[in-house]
Amino acid sequence: MSDDLVEPQKPDIIYETDEPVLYEVKDAVAWITMNRPKFNNAQNGQMTYALDDAFNRAVQDDAVRCIVLAGEGKHFSAGHDIGTPGRDVHKDFENRLMIPGHTNKPAAELLYTREQEQYLGMCKRWREAPKPTIAMVQGACIAGGLMLAWTCDLIVASEDAFFQDPVNPLMGIPGVEYFAHAYELPTRVAKEFLLLGERMPAARAYQYGMVNKIVPREELREAVAAWAEKLAGQPRLGNWLTKQAVNHVEELQGKSQAMTAVFHMHHFAHAQNDLVSGDSIGGVSGKSAAAANKKQAGG
Ligand code: ZN
Repeated sequence: MSDDLVEPQKPDIIYETDEPVLYEVKDAVAWITMNRPKFNNAQNGQMTYALDDAFNRAVQDDAVRCIVLAGEGKHFSAGHDIGTPGRDVHKDFENRLMIPGHTNKPAAELLYTREQEQYLGMCKRWREAPKPTIAMVQGACIAGGLMLAWTCDLIVASEDAFFQDPVNPLMGIPGVEYFAHAYELPTRVAKEFLLLGERMPAARAYQYGMVNKIVPREELREAVAAWAEKLAGQPRLGNWLTKQAVNHVEELQGKSQAMTAVFHMHHFAHAQNDLVSGDSIGGVSGKSAAAANKKQAGG
């Protein structure tokens, strides 16, 4: 038994852009846009840290009164990066949450450290942003994409949007790291969503209140801008306290505690995959996940 540090892997990483996130302030609204459309906005470390920078920038700027989170291109986000040339799991960034770097940690400690920082920790932080946030969702919102949409106070989706967490059927892991499923959906629906991992169209998500509004694709930006403008014109502190009030009720229902508990199940499953197959996500690649998904969708 040893907890010795290890020599970090030095994989080749090819970033297709220096701007994985775009940032624009317009009429007191910060538009934060994921910008890897070529890879359906798959989230690598480069992107999660850029998102963290963007949220922080929007929070620090008193001229910003509302924050919109969007995805460039056909899809909001296909999830965490599990196979693009810019996949950077084995790269350290300047950690933000009083957690050490992960790349020199042995075995299961590596991913546990990374995901505490880049997935669970960051998402929890963004949820607590002291300004109202709106997710603007079109096309696919899968796994890691769900986490981002769920951290926002409001979700506006286009008619073609769909939501999916295929992590259990694909990898034998009980859902993504930010485990809000059982808070976003009624119990039995959450079980269906997780166990079967099938696509949930926006219209069905709306029935459960997971989505606030559905509009045709061509009206999506306009609809989000209208709500953002209204929120931006309202009392700053009131907006903050109001979102906190509802978040607090979720806390009384145990949301963070549930997330912490399930995060550990998530990592037990990562470790099991690693022990059985030598790969923490069970050998699943972006390509194989997309193929399985297509098959399931009948395409
Ligand atoms: Zn994970």
